[in-house]
Amino acid sequence: MAKLAPERSKQPDTPGYWARRPITYCGSEYDRGQALELAGGTNDERLIRLGYLAELDPKAELSVCAECGAAFTGPGERTGHGNTRHRPHTERSPLDEDRADEREERLLDEIAPLYVDHAAGRR
Ligand SMILES: [Zn+2]
Repeated sequence: MAKLAPERSKQPDTPGYWARRPITYCGSEYDRGQALELAGGTNDERLIRLGYLAELDPKAELSVCAECGAAFTGPGERTGHGNTRHRPHTERSPLDEDRADEREERLLDEIAPLYVDHAAGRR
């Protein structure tokens, strides 16, 4: 019996990095845990050093969003993306929105704290 198997490992353009934090990179918005390819810009090194981007484990199993095809480091990250991008909470009040933002910020500081920029202030 032949089994259908996805062949994602053979793709030459497998993303090599992922966003530890929600980030706008090269004009595109990336959600937490989203895999991306570095564009080779001058900011790349800094974004990695500060903890916005991290190298992706080449053996990592990515979870792909069924709605837009974006790849994520795990199902939890993909679900978070889906809730934000594809199921907007239209009935939330601005106050609830603020609270949600605060919660998100606290969560991010816990699970993906930014690195201290030791080079800041030095010239
Ligand atoms: Zn999506």
